[in-house]
This record gives sequence, structure tokens and C-alpha cells, in this order.
Amino acid sequence: MATDDVATTLGAAREWTAPAPPATGLPKLHQLSMKQQIAICCARCAQYLGASGRQWGDLHHRVHDRTFVFKLWVCESGCRPFQGGPA
Ligand SMILES: [Zn+2]
Repeated sequence: MATDDVATTLGAAREWTAPAPPATGLPKLHQLSMKQQIAICCARCAQYLGASGRQWGDLHHRVHDRTFVFKLWVCESGCRPFQGGPA
């Protein structure tokens, strides 16, 4: 199998993945509680999201040679001031 085929396949796969909305000022992973990391709570204000919320952006966290992507979610409308912190 040619290397070009793999690259083409990867490119196609990338097109299938909806890009996260542009996000600025994403917090660092260590600033988030576990519930914020897995989108149970808002990544900005730590309120329980329930069925509401909107995607904030992808947080890339690198550990050794692996990169983990956390999809951060925030309140659908309005947030309290950021209250996340180290657990
Ligand atoms: Zn919020």
C-alpha cells in the first residue's frame, strides 16, 4: 500500500470530523474538574449542564507521546465567573 493512500484516507477522515468552533482562552486541563473535562459540568463556570450547553472547543492535552482531546462544553447562555480549579 502506498503511503499516499494512507494520507488520502486520513485526509478524508479529517473531513468527516466536524471542526470545533474556534475557541480562545481555553483553560488548561489541570484547571478543570473531572466533571468539566467530560462535559458533565460547564468548563467555564462549573455549573451542571444537563441536556443544555454548547461546545466551546477542543482541549488538547499531551501526555508523553499521546495527545488526548477533551471536548469542552459551556453553558448554552451565560456563565457565572470561572470557578474551575484543581480538584
Ligand atoms: Zn457556564
